Amino acid sequence: MKAFIFNIVAIFFLVSCSQGQQIDSTSMEVVKSDKEWKTLLSPQEYYVLRQKGTERAFTGKYNKFYKEGTYVCRGCQNPLFKSETKYDSGSGWPSYYTCIEGNVEEIQDNSHGMNRVEVVCNRCKGHLGHVFTDGPQPTGLRYCINSVSLSFEGKE
Ligand SMILES: [Zn+2]
Repeated sequence: MKAFIFNIVAIFFLVSCSQGQQIDSTSMEVVKSDKEWKTLLSPQEYYVLRQKGTERAFTGKYNKFYKEGTYVCRGCQNPLFKSETKYDSGSGWPSYYTCIEGNVEEIQDNSHGMNRVEVVCNRCKGHLGHVFTDGPQPTGLRYCINSVSLSFEGKE
């Protein structure tokens, strides 16, 4: 009888543990309908973040912008890039040699007849840009990011 009660308690404990984990992972991820995104974002932000569009080169707010701070996702405020990793690649888009680890997801992208690696926000899956391997040291990477996908938080 003792063992039976112990089993019941153990099962109850396991079930409540796994439920707790599920709640954690869903509260981390930001999931909204297209309709909700349309009310939250400007038409250009919606086009880039939700439809994988690209802003025109040399037109973005953060292309030539070098203040100290953190670039966060325009869709969900997830911190994505730090100002000290930003550099002028001459491409016309904000460029960083690394991202804030764990907050950016990389996805193979074979659209438009090219083999590229797309980068998205790992919390709301918003499209940010692409990562290329022609960047500066220490990583050799170039995160080529649309300004409209970002907001800036820092010393103004
Ligand atoms: Zn996001």
